[in-house]
Amino acid sequence: MRLGLFGGTFDPVHFGHLLLAECCREQCALDRVVFLPTAVSPHKQGRNPTPAAERIAMLELATGGHAALEVSSYEVDRGGVSYTVETLRHFRESEPDARLFFLLGADMLNDLPHWREASAVIELALPVVVRRPDAEAVDFDCLASIASAERIEAVRSHQVEMPPIGISSTAIRRQASRGRSIRYLTPRAVEKYIETNRPYR
Ligand code: ATP
Ligand code: MG
Repeated sequence: MRLGLFGGTFDPVHFGHLLLAECCREQCALDRVVFLPTAVSPHKQGRNPTPAAERIAMLELATGGHAALEVSSYEVDRGGVSYTVETLRHFRESEPDARLFFLLGADMLNDLPHWREASAVIELALPVVVRRPDAEAVDFDCLASIASAERIEAVRSHQVEMPPIGISSTAIRRQASRGRSIRYLTPRAVEKYIETNRPYR
C-alpha cells in the first residue's frame, strides 16, 4: 500500500490542493492520499485559522466523491504546533504495512533540511516533490546534508508535474469576506458551505 500524506491549513481547500493531490496520486501510483489539516502550522504562527471542525467539514465535502482521497484529523486532535516528524511517526505506527510519501511543493524543498529532525522525516516518508512543468530543474543536492545519495535518487525519481493553478486560500477568504464570487475556485459543495456558514465574514 502506497500512502500519500498532504499537510496544509486548508482554510479553505481549493482546486489547487485537489489537483496537486490527484497529480501525485496518479504519477506516483498512490493508493490513498490523506489530507492532514494542521492545528497550528510551524510556518504560520501569526494568524488564527478558521476552527478545525469547519476546515475539516469543507475538506470532507471536497474529497467525498473520490475513493482514494481522505481527511485525517490527527494533527488537529493532537493540537499545538504540527511537526511533520511526529505526524509521520504516527502514520508509521498506525499503518505499519504502508509505504509513506509526503507531498511537497518544489519551492519547499530547500527548506526541508531545516525542519525538525529532517533526516528522520526523509527516512520515514519519501518526499514527492511537485513542480510546474515549465519550472527550472529542482536542485536535489540541497538534501545532501540530511539524506543518502540513494535516498536523494529516490526523491528525484518521484517528482510530480502539475499544471500551474493560481488559486490560494488567502484569495478565497478575501473574496468571500467581501461578498464576491468564489465560484470555480473550489468545488461547488465547498462554495455552498462558505455561502451558508460564512466562516470568512
Ligand atoms: P494560504 O493562502 O492561506 O497560505 P494556500 O492556498 O497556500 O493557503 P495551504 O493550506 O497553505 O494553502 O497549502 C497547503 C499546501 O498546498 C502547501 O504545500 C501549498 O504549497 C500547496 N498549494 C496551495 N495552493 C496551491 C496551488 N494553487 N497550486 C499548487 N500547490 C498549492
Ligand atoms: Mg500557503
